[in-house]
Amino acid sequence: MRQSQLFTKTRREAPADEVSQNAQLLVRAGYVHKEMAGVYSYLPLGLRTLNNIVQVIREEMNAIGGQELVMSSLQDKELWSRTDRWDDAKVDNWFKTEFKSGGETGLGITHEEPLTRIMTDHISSYRDLPVYAYQFQNKFRNELRAKSGIMRGKEFMMKDLYSFSRDDAQHKEFYDMAREAYLKVFTRIGIGDRTYVTFASGGIFSEFSEEFQTVSEAGEDIIYIDEEKRIAINKEVYTDETIAKLGLEKEKLIEKKAIEAGNTFSLGTRFSEPLGLLYTSEDGTKKPVVMGSYGIGPTRLMGIVVETLADEKGLVWPESVAPFTYHLVSLGHDGDEVSKTAEQLYAALTEKGIEVLYDDRDVRAGEKFAESDLLGMPYRIVVGKDAVANGAFEVVTRATGEVAKKTREEILAA
Ligand code: ATP
Ligand code: MG
Repeated sequence: MRQSQLFTKTRREAPADEVSQNAQLLVRAGYVHKEMAGVYSYLPLGLRTLNNIVQVIREEMNAIGGQELVMSSLQDKELWSRTDRWDDAKVDNWFKTEFKSGGETGLGITHEEPLTRIMTDHISSYRDLPVYAYQFQNKFRNELRAKSGIMRGKEFMMKDLYSFSRDDAQHKEFYDMAREAYLKVFTRIGIGDRTYVTFASGGIFSEFSEEFQTVSEAGEDIIYIDEEKRIAINKEVYTDETIAKLGLEKEKLIEKKAIEAGNTFSLGTRFSEPLGLLYTSEDGTKKPVVMGSYGIGPTRLMGIVVETLADEKGLVWPESVAPFTYHLVSLGHDGDEVSKTAEQLYAALTEKGIEVLYDDRDVRAGEKFAESDLLGMPYRIVVGKDAVANGAFEVVTRATGEVAKKTREEILAA
């Protein structure tokens, strides 16, 4: 893509009311637009980034047997009343409104209820189990806190997967696979080294739920980490009893601020029973389906990547999520030899299917470099006089600042 064609502009100053580092940088770099507190739109560069994160998650969910679908955002009050999650006294973050034709609806905060009901049409026998289904969808929650930028939205994207199994043993098998798949996601997007399986409250059939917490100063949670075992305990369940139960030692645990990147819950029959999701077992008796839910927030992950990898110059994207792998910066002026060389390299990279943002604008070099640092592509290729005279292109690695001289062939072979 030619930068001269990109409609978004960068800005030097972040909006005054934006306190989080992730939103400050993303707004300045033109990746997102702030609509209201906790509500963001994703602009072309931001959408490319988000789509890359989504794709990593999709691949890992498909690899463990997940089937993708998409459910409605508008929710059926009657359905949610059956599990006692409609009442504002029980769930306090619904956005609700009225139908003109009468009756109430709300925007989906999560989707256990609708998917369980859908499955009553499709699951009837033990032969139909297990089933794993997931979606990427915007959820709506009337969150009170809005200081974390895109990490805590009132409208945000969630990948929510639900598992439907015959019994606890079949459930556990998938639950363990989901944990591994989640760890792969975090490694692939570049936050694996700072993300810990964390024991938290909220388990129904196993005593704990598992959170995946990424250490960050911007985090809202406190966790206690065993670095050797790479597991942690959330403050909410941090007691001597829990420490002992998990076979950990208090002296080894380190307190850190962290942000929840994802979580997995064993739901037991909490939803299948009230919603009548039963199956006929091998011995002919009817049994409630055993469920689990598994959430990850792609928009929150994008914020976490910013918070953990950005530096004082701007965004720093790992290759797996970057909107473009290369930022090709031409120091030429209309039609001179330098810009011709840059044009040729751009054409060759594009032809090979390599994703490149090409700064073809007639702008001062210093300004281009500062903007390139802010945008954060993994590699910057600078085309200057040296490229014309000696065929040497400067390649700068954004994360380390490392500079290498490369030939056109070396760049194209990478
Ligand atoms: P938190 O404790 O941070 O509010 P949660 O326990 O409410 O999270 P879940 O309801 O389990 O989170 O949602 C699954 C995932 O969706 C979370 O792990 C997180 O990645 C993401 N998520 C939850 N709330 C938000 C939000 N307000 N903005 C962005 N992402 C969110
Ligand atoms: Mg929450």
